[in-house]
Amino acid sequence: MKEILQDYSLDELKEKLTNIGIKMPRLRAEQLYKWAHEYAKFDEMTNLSLEDRKVLSEHFEDEPVKIEKEFISTDGTKKYLFKLLDGNLIEGVLMKYKYGNTICVSTQVGCRMGCLFCATGLDGMIRNLSAGEILGQVLAVNKINGGTVANRQITNIVLMGCGEPLDNFDNVVKFIKLVSSSKGGINISQRNISLSTCGIAPKIRELADLDLGITLTISLHATTDEFRKQIMKIANAYSLADLFEAINYYFKKTKRRIMFEYILLDKNTTVHDARRIKSLCKGLSYHFNLIPINQTPNTKVRPELKPASKTKTAEFWQYLKDNNVSATTRRTLGEDISGACGQLRRSKMEGK
Ligand code: SAH
Ligand code: SF4
Repeated sequence: MKEILQDYSLDELKEKLTNIGIKMPRLRAEQLYKWAHEYAKFDEMTNLSLEDRKVLSEHFEDEPVKIEKEFISTDGTKKYLFKLLDGNLIEGVLMKYKYGNTICVSTQVGCRMGCLFCATGLDGMIRNLSAGEILGQVLAVNKINGGTVANRQITNIVLMGCGEPLDNFDNVVKFIKLVSSSKGGINISQRNISLSTCGIAPKIRELADLDLGITLTISLHATTDEFRKQIMKIANAYSLADLFEAINYYFKKTKRRIMFEYILLDKNTTVHDARRIKSLCKGLSYHFNLIPINQTPNTKVRPELKPASKTKTAEFWQYLKDNNVSATTRRTLGEDISGACGQLRRSKMEGK
């Protein structure tokens, strides 16, 4: 199988080219790197010789992620169904905010974390995405929206699509380095990248040690180990105490504000939950995103996933306020086209 052009850093690309016998001077490798990040097809790389382009196309794929379908919501949100070279499908979303455009990308096909509320995890993990396949989502969406490397149409990235980014650690870290590379790369600042995890504690520490500038987002969803274990399998491996030790380590190392995702359920929105949030987060700079739960097959049948009523939600807001917990409700963008992550791919696979 051919290799994916976008999997390689500029230095690796130079070495690769030498290995396959293309004697490209330094400048050419840089041009190729830039073309790769423009998401150009080989035919479009007009400043490379025809002969070079032919050899390159024999060794490399120029388009690891194809946009299979684009769904445009009335509020401007765009949802993408991407097809990988092996036929697997993944999804991503482009959200328009006042401050810029945020893309939500996938890091795995499926996910093996098996959170009860999530559509992605229902079929387990199929495979990891390579760095170039994660990058390809950003580049393809930038291109289809009229963006280039010099004039990018994407300002922020959240690793919040299908998959658990810390379960695909090396490829995700490589992706972050590639997408923030300035020499020919699309150069999205690491400060504008957020990685969301269900809480693989040792990997959070490992990430902290890499000194990247990214924001850490934790899918918390519960304030006791007992309830967390009921809805998130990962809680059996790492207790809240383990998780918060790792979060504190990340915070001390990076000084970056920690973001939390919290689904509003009947069982996790009591006054005790608000107090426990306050005490768990002691010493951190943090913010909570409160999320109304999206319907998935499990949400209809599992009592643990009963959504918080309007009254309960309003009361919880007050409890959080009383405890000085900073929180907002995430704007639910593109409700008419999206649903929870993982649903688009499922409905496509099931032929709905
Ligand atoms: N695996 C990572 C990132 C992908 S999931 C993680 O778990 O953080 C992205 C976000 O969607 C997570 O916060 C997850 O908890 C949330 N999510 C999953 N299913 C959901 C649902 N049915 N309704 C609302 N949010 C959901
Ligand atoms: Fe995986 Fe995140 Fe879904 Fe949990 S919520 S199953 S970690 S994608």
